[in-house]
Amino acid sequence: MRKQIAAANWKMNLTAQQGEQLLNDILSAEHTLNVNRIAVFAVPFPYLAMAQQQLAGWEHMYVSAQNCYSKKSGAYTGEVSVEMLQSLGIKYVVLGHSERREYFNESNQFLADKLNICLEYNIAPIFCCGEPLEIREAGSQNDFVGRQLKESLYHLSAEQLKNVIIAYEPIWAIGTGKTASSEQAQEMHAFIRAALAAQYGNDVAEEITILYGGSVKAGNAAELFSQPDVDGGLVGGASLVAAEFNAIIDALK
Ligand code: PGA
Repeated sequence: MRKQIAAANWKMNLTAQQGEQLLNDILSAEHTLNVNRIAVFAVPFPYLAMAQQQLAGWEHMYVSAQNCYSKKSGAYTGEVSVEMLQSLGIKYVVLGHSERREYFNESNQFLADKLNICLEYNIAPIFCCGEPLEIREAGSQNDFVGRQLKESLYHLSAEQLKNVIIAYEPIWAIGTGKTASSEQAQEMHAFIRAALAAQYGNDVAEEITILYGGSVKAGNAAELFSQPDVDGGLVGGASLVAAEFNAIIDALK
């Protein structure tokens, strides 16, 4: 079975105290998790150590960074390396979120470099892809997302790719309250899986977790996650409310 993941993306929200409270509220609810049904919390850099400490001893719950740099170490003021993340015991990092691509000009090639270094340090990248509204309206979403996959991922070996989690996040659905319908999500996830199968073979493609992101909430999670190629969600706004995110965790297959 493919790993099913409820991933919280706090983005640039919450104070340290609010973040700690939110994690406590989530941990105090009962969740049925196992190796193939996990929760991941992508918290801001200054909260990584606190979140690691809070989740210590909790099984199947992991802390993630929201970004990292493409170099090992050195004179890159303000950046955070995978070696630093590894030294904190962090196992996941979100890469190529559309907000990083848009506001910080992260290109497919730059993301390919970041993927390489994460995999070198055994940190699983949650690689985000997805099209803007005008591309969806022109009906070219497959070409657009296909190119993101090709330029950032296809240099990887099959063994490396197996450690990558993909998050399909249509930009028009992020933070807009406008969710892709479960049919639209399934259609894109099936396209992504077929593209991976064409490149790496069916067996590899079947193993890759593909998350949906874009206005996932308690009320629509079960319907989205019930789709055969949707293996969970990357959740922004609704991950900041304990009751919402608790319900999203529980909606995993
Ligand atoms: P949203 O954000 O759930 O607030 O739409 C999702 C994301 O950007 O990861």
